[in-house]
Amino acid sequence: MSLNGKTAIVTGSNSGIGLGIARELARAGADVVLNSFTDRDEDHALAHALAEEFGVKARYIKADMSKGEECRGLIEQAGACDILVNNAGIQHVSPIDEFPVEKWDAIIAINLNSAFHTTAVALPMMRAAGWGRIVNIASAHGLTASPFKAAYVAAKHGIVGMTKTVALETAQEPITCNAICPGYVLTPLVEAQIPDTMEKYGMGREEVIKKVMLERQPSKEFATVEQLGGTAVFLCSDAAAQITGTTISVDGGWTAL
Ligand code: NAD
Repeated sequence: MSLNGKTAIVTGSNSGIGLGIARELARAGADVVLNSFTDRDEDHALAHALAEEFGVKARYIKADMSKGEECRGLIEQAGACDILVNNAGIQHVSPIDEFPVEKWDAIIAINLNSAFHTTAVALPMMRAAGWGRIVNIASAHGLTASPFKAAYVAAKHGIVGMTKTVALETAQEPITCNAICPGYVLTPLVEAQIPDTMEKYGMGREEVIKKVMLERQPSKEFATVEQLGGTAVFLCSDAAAQITGTTISVDGGWTAL
C-alpha cells in the first residue's frame, strides 16, 4: 500500500490517534503535515522525527481548529492535500442542563465545523490532482449515544452525516470520503477522563478502565493508535477505491451490541 508522493494533512496530530495515523501514513510513504493549536519545539520535533524515520517530507503547521479561517488557512498553507484526515477533537462530560455553553460551542467547532472548513478548501485541490481521500475520525458515539456527552455525540453524529454527504457529492470522481469510528483508545483524551471517573464512582484506575470504560467494549481491550493508523492507510489505498460514504468501526465490537 504505497502512498509515495501523496501529501497527507492530519488535523490535531501532535498526540494520540492523529499522531498514530500520521505515523502510519508516513510509513506508507506519504508526506505528512502535522497540526495542532500549540507551537512548541516538541510539535516541530515530532515532524522531524517522522521525516527522519520514514524518509518522507514532514512538517508541522500551527492552526486552531476551533476557528474557521485557521482551518482553511491550514490547507492553503500546506499547498497540497491528497489525503485529509479530520481528527482534531475534544470532549466534555456534563448533564445537558448544566452543559457550559462555551464547551458546547468549542466541541461543535473543533469536532465538526473544522471538518467542513478543511474539506471545502481541500476538495478543489483533490479535483485538480485527480485523486483524493478524506478520512473523518468520528467515534462509536457517532453511531450510538451516551449520557452526559451531548455535544460530543451531536458532533460525532454530525460528522458521520457529513461524511455520507461528501461521499455522494464526489461519488463519480476519484475521491472517497469515509469515517472511522473508534471505541476506547488510551490516549491523552481518555486519560483525562480517568481521574474524574475515579472520583465519581469511588474506584481505582484499573477498576475504572475495566468496569466503566472497557465494560462497553466486548473485546475488553483498548484499540491502539497503530490499528487506527492502519485502518486509515487501508482507506487511502487503491483496494478501498470503491469504499465511500461508509463508517468503519474499530471498537472491539461495541456497536455490534
Ligand atoms: P488527544 O487529546 O490525544 O488528541 C486530540 C488532538 O486534537 C491533539 O493533537 C490536540 O492537540 C488536538 N486539538 C485539540 N484542540 C485543537 C484545536 N483547537 N486545534 C487544533 N488541534 C486541536 O485525543 P485522541 O483520543 O487522540 O482524539 C483524536 C480524535 O479521535 C478525536 O476526534 C476524538 O474525538 C476521536 N476519538 C477518540 C477516542 C478515544 O478513545 N481516544 C474514541 C473515539 C474517537
